[in-house]
Amino acid sequence: MSTQRLNGTVMRSTGSFYDVLAPDGRHYNCRVRGKIRLEGIKETNPVAVGDHVAFDPEHEIGSITEILPRTNHILRQSVKKTGHSHILAANVDQALLVVTLAMPRTSLGFIDRFLVSAEAFRIPQVIVFNKKDLLLPEESELTQQLIALYTSLGVTCFSLSAREESADAVQHVLQNKITLIAGHSGVGKSTLLNKLAPHIEQTVGDISSSSEKGTHTTTFAEMFQLDERTFVIDTPGVKEWGLVDTQRQELSDYFPEMRDRRLDCKFGARCIHVSEPKCAVIDAVQSGAIAPSRYQNYLGMLLGEDNRK
Ligand code: GDP
Ligand code: ZN
Repeated sequence: MSTQRLNGTVMRSTGSFYDVLAPDGRHYNCRVRGKIRLEGIKETNPVAVGDHVAFDPEHEIGSITEILPRTNHILRQSVKKTGHSHILAANVDQALLVVTLAMPRTSLGFIDRFLVSAEAFRIPQVIVFNKKDLLLPEESELTQQLIALYTSLGVTCFSLSAREESADAVQHVLQNKITLIAGHSGVGKSTLLNKLAPHIEQTVGDISSSSEKGTHTTTFAEMFQLDERTFVIDTPGVKEWGLVDTQRQELSDYFPEMRDRRLDCKFGARCIHVSEPKCAVIDAVQSGAIAPSRYQNYLGMLLGEDNRK
């Protein structure tokens, strides 16, 4: 019996058990032994999907003893609004949001909140506008306008019909990366995932049949391996990622089209671009250089009900 410690990647979690993938391709069922603390993070359950961990595979149930340094992590606010957040995923290379302008139509507010959260965590973004085959002419046109807008902001965009077409173009941007995939229920996230990796379906089925009420599939993220170096993290109906510890003055840093302009605001770093005189952001909105929807959603986030300080 080996007592050698191994390193591995957390593929999924039930809150008390973790499926850890070792470099040799084997999966280990692990628990956390003792207390694992990470600097600066208040967490009851600190191990997240995507974490690289050290574990002791000695027993039938391995013991995670350490979380190796993260490149980043994504916080998710507690659904119960307790003020606590949990880590949705760690070590994410990019975030992909599946949306549609057909049913159930994704709001621009939701898209912008997603992008801002990813920006705040310094994670590049991809948007897949799905259900192309169902769009009315004006919806197709709006999709094209949004693709132009978001592409100009540095977001990689695709328009497709996940059910009718291949997803090769999307597959290409996933290559050799860990991509977190999110989207409202019904937009076609599972359909896209099945196109990207037909073998996933089988895995999903195995998990839900072996878990109690499938609870973790609705609460926790799960990571799937597409090939040796390509992973996707499927997230359960992510409504809001946490924008924890964001100061009001910081919010425009996460809007790329505002980030540089704000340096020209008369009130400098204190400007929140609402009604201040000689505000470069407001000027840009008025001249059409900043899209009205983006500014509206900025104001909504700035003034809206969330737990920003
Ligand atoms: P999820 O909840 O985001 O995982 O959505 P699903 O993948 O389960 O898809 C929801 C419904 O939309 C299913 O009936 C799919 O067949 C359908 N759907 C997904 N993608 C497309 C698409 O590109 N075109 C059309 N017409 N239907 C789609
Ligand atoms: Zn300003």
